[in-house]
Amino acid sequence: MSLHVITPTIRSTALSQRAGLDVFLKLENVQPCGSFKLRGVGHACSALHAKGARRFVSSSGGNAGYAVAYAGRQLGVPVTVVVPETTSEKAKALIQSEGAQVVVHGGSWQDANAHAQALLDAASAFIHPFDHPLLWEGHASMIDELATQCAKPDVIVCSVGGGGLLAGVGEGLLRNGWGDVGILAMETEGTASYAAALAQGAPVELPAVSGVATSLGARRVCERAVGLARELEVRSLVLSDAAAVEGCADLLDAHRLLTEPACGASIAGLDGVRRHFPDARSAVVIVCGGVGVTAEQLQTWRKPASGQGRPGAA
Ligand SMILES: *Cc1c(COP(=O)(O)O)cnc(C)c1O
Repeated sequence: MSLHVITPTIRSTALSQRAGLDVFLKLENVQPCGSFKLRGVGHACSALHAKGARRFVSSSGGNAGYAVAYAGRQLGVPVTVVVPETTSEKAKALIQSEGAQVVVHGGSWQDANAHAQALLDAASAFIHPFDHPLLWEGHASMIDELATQCAKPDVIVCSVGGGGLLAGVGEGLLRNGWGDVGILAMETEGTASYAAALAQGAPVELPAVSGVATSLGARRVCERAVGLARELEVRSLVLSDAAAVEGCADLLDAHRLLTEPACGASIAGLDGVRRHFPDARSAVVIVCGGVGVTAEQLQTWRKPASGQGRPGAA
């Protein structure tokens, strides 16, 4: 049995009118952990548990770590998540709410990750946030579902952090005979590791990442994401933080769905579909979701961009 749920695909009249395309939304935000991550993580954890893993270790304080915690509890396997000191109390509490042990170690993700690797023994499995074939195979199930829910779209719009989602979408397209569907790969200016990799033809390490789309903040993408761009029609689009935040606001207004800027980038990317794929008539946005957001936080992010014209705003 899979740990993720089948998610709805809905047509968006509001976003279709704006983009001048038939727009559908694949609602991964309704997964029990709030993001698509559970597809790949659940698949990987199930497979590794069947092979004898008796503990899962993660070094993500974000949606991936939360998904590992959830998957571990469902499978009855203890989970340890090592996070750096910079991880918010809220993120730690969320991971602990699934019964996982949170270990705080070091000032950066690199420190936390090194500690996580040192904790591994023969009975435990490390669950990477984006770079593993089992993750891609699990993420690909969203395209299997999509193929039963709507006609073949011309373009899929999805966000790129470390490229696990993109690799899964690509694998899903290929295994469903949808290899001619284009992919618009969305990033923000502070997290554009995929744009840099495509320009270089190979993954490159960014000196730093920044901005509000923290779930896209992998300094280096996985090889597979770059390889896919040679097999499929992939275009990269990089937007400002403000545009990603407006994407969140647009999705909230149109469908009353709250998502992270990592996901808002893909909503905002709809405006670029016609530019990158001039013949496109339809697009599916992977609404990747994310739990690192509240209504209040979204308001705060919006303030610099829309400080005027909001009567009563302090
Ligand atoms: C992880 C994540 C991404 C990026 O996925 P990658 O596999 O790292 O490319 C995008 N959006 C959300 C909400 C995520 O949690």
